[in-house]
Amino acid sequence: MPSTSEILNLSSNISPEGKQLIEKAYSFAQMAHKDHKRFSGEPYFNHLFETAKILAELGQDAQTISAGLLHDSIEDVNVAPETIEKEFGQEILFLVQGVTKLGQLRYHGEDRHVESLRKLFVAMAQDVRVVIIKLADRLHNVRTLQYVPEEKRKRIALETLEVYGPIAYRLGIRKINRELENLAFPFAFPDEYLEIKELLGRKHKENQKQLEKFVKTLKKELAKNDLIKIQTDFRVKSLYSLYKKYLRKEKDFEKIYDVQALRIIVPTMADCYKALGVVHGNWRPLPGRIKDYIAFPKPNGYQSIHTTIFTGDGHIIEIQIRTDQMHEKSEMGIASHFLYKSENQKKDGIEFFNPLSWIKRLLPNKISFSSTPTKETSDIKAPYSNAPKWVKELAEHQSKAPTDGEFMDNLRSDFFGHRIFVFTPKGDVVDLPLNSTPIDFAYAIHSDIGHHISGVKVNGKLVTLDTELSNGDIIEIITKDSSKPTKKWVDMAKTASAKRKIKAFLENQKQNL
Ligand code: MN
Repeated sequence: MPSTSEILNLSSNISPEGKQLIEKAYSFAQMAHKDHKRFSGEPYFNHLFETAKILAELGQDAQTISAGLLHDSIEDVNVAPETIEKEFGQEILFLVQGVTKLGQLRYHGEDRHVESLRKLFVAMAQDVRVVIIKLADRLHNVRTLQYVPEEKRKRIALETLEVYGPIAYRLGIRKINRELENLAFPFAFPDEYLEIKELLGRKHKENQKQLEKFVKTLKKELAKNDLIKIQTDFRVKSLYSLYKKYLRKEKDFEKIYDVQALRIIVPTMADCYKALGVVHGNWRPLPGRIKDYIAFPKPNGYQSIHTTIFTGDGHIIEIQIRTDQMHEKSEMGIASHFLYKSENQKKDGIEFFNPLSWIKRLLPNKISFSSTPTKETSDIKAPYSNAPKWVKELAEHQSKAPTDGEFMDNLRSDFFGHRIFVFTPKGDVVDLPLNSTPIDFAYAIHSDIGHHISGVKVNGKLVTLDTELSNGDIIEIITKDSSKPTKKWVDMAKTASAKRKIKAFLENQKQNL
């Protein structure tokens, strides 16, 4: 029999009022879902209970855990939003409604739109806590995926790998990213899963003895340099990320050096560099594979030193060196933010997530948040040159943010506000700049569709080609072989890429006359 204490025991920093709130949400959810069962036949409440436990393990606050307990109450058992607001307040209602809204997004298995879908997901959430609840919800759903009817299973597994996994990764929540991938991979790609599992098993067996010997020697060398309070552990990549790397390396397993990585966890940052000295002093590193993510953290906040060495007995192994705190951050990412209270804003006794300090942590120290761009702001592009576009935009944006207080508003209106998200009739998401027209949409789908537009329906109604699209519109382009672009289209299109394609078409036509 589940109980609230199981949730509360996982979290050390919840106030007595917070505990009361969780207990109330617990009984409320139990009542609301009492006649509701899961595919497995167990009471539906178990799903809510497990979701709340995951949130507590991630160190989330009482509001978020309570919203986790209530997250399906509007959608699945028709609790009125007013009831949630009356019983639990506006903030929890906001979180529950956010999760409900995200539940309506669907991944249809088209690669070209998946990046838009991920962005839309984060944009729609408005608050990172909504994303975290949705990740916890999905994690429990994939933990019990075997009970879901087969025809649904594969879609959920693919969506998990394509949308939820990458979002967890970008938010730096490795712990969830890894588990989502490990659970969904066998359902999404059963044959590939078996293939990689076999390869890994074989490699593991081959190496086990030598690795153990190596760790012993390494520990001795570290101890000689007073590095005694250390933990070592072998991290195996998630099978899915290993599989993706395997494909990138042309299916040559021997070319993947970090199949197993040895982690050295030390107390301080100085110890990290000292340990690196010991490693390189005793074993030859592979050139070009030394990465200092302590001095240059990854865009998602990840910090560690990576190096790959020859062990001397014919093996090559990756070593990752980090402090305990970096380790925790690398596992929990944005979620760990709640564990460091001093970085959170307090408002009316409720803790709010402060995205500014999170983003600040991701950026090199020298960047200032003043309204006049300093000379250094131009340097900021360098560490982001390989980052996903939205992280870059975020980084560039923050350097212009006038004050901390306005930051979140600006983030929403500037970062997301200059884009709109519209849908194909099948429900695929396409993101476009504000003021885009159906012409931009058609060209974003495919040049061939753009070149043959004869009409367009927005939300089922015929409209003119210069109609401005709005967020959430469903757009159907009607094509005809005989239709082709005219000069007017150049002005009607708002995106540079559509304008370019139309001009090229017209130019081409002129030459053929
Ligand atoms: Mn759910």
